[in-house]
Amino acid sequence: MKRIYLSLGSNVGDRVSHIRKACELLPTAGIVVRRVSSCYKTEPVDFAPQRWFVNCVIEAETDLMPLQLLKALQSLERRLGRRPGISKGPRPIDIDILLYENVVVRSSALTIPHERLAERRFVLVPLGELASHVRHPVTQRTVLEMLHETTDMSQVIRLKSE
Ligand code: ADP
Ligand code: MG
Repeated sequence: MKRIYLSLGSNVGDRVSHIRKACELLPTAGIVVRRVSSCYKTEPVDFAPQRWFVNCVIEAETDLMPLQLLKALQSLERRLGRRPGISKGPRPIDIDILLYENVVVRSSALTIPHERLAERRFVLVPLGELASHVRHPVTQRTVLEMLHETTDMSQVIRLKSE
């Protein structure tokens, strides 16, 4: 099995429950969840005039190959009510592949590590909770180093766990 890190985000409806539901459904797609970060309230960065997101990061294992994994996650997003709309805009759930072992993928459909990993505090903060010493396979920076070096100043506020 390959170790992967996924970013989950929601800014529509009951955001925490969308994220919870996605975690519950991941195993049905062949993704074994190992650890889940805290949830964070995060300021929208790519497309500002919308509601704040709730984000978390998951450490998981899978036998799916990268492109199969992307397809499985996209069909899960649809099951959770995601419809094609404005890219970067409001969505009940967004699941992105951050890291897949030390694999580097550069194709039109898929970029791994995630292209904007180092530019997003809403990803780096929860990822840092689980994997602060894991290195980006291209830049060789650890998650902690990327967090210290990012110019993204947007707010990321940890939610109290229930
Ligand atoms: P975003 O996640 O950038 O806000 P979308 O979820 O609509 O926007 O994704 C747009 C496209 O990004 C997807 O159709 C997918 O093919 C592509 N993509 C490229 N790399 C990745 C990745 N690492 N994880 C998820 N999607 C990716
Ligand atoms: Mg996405």
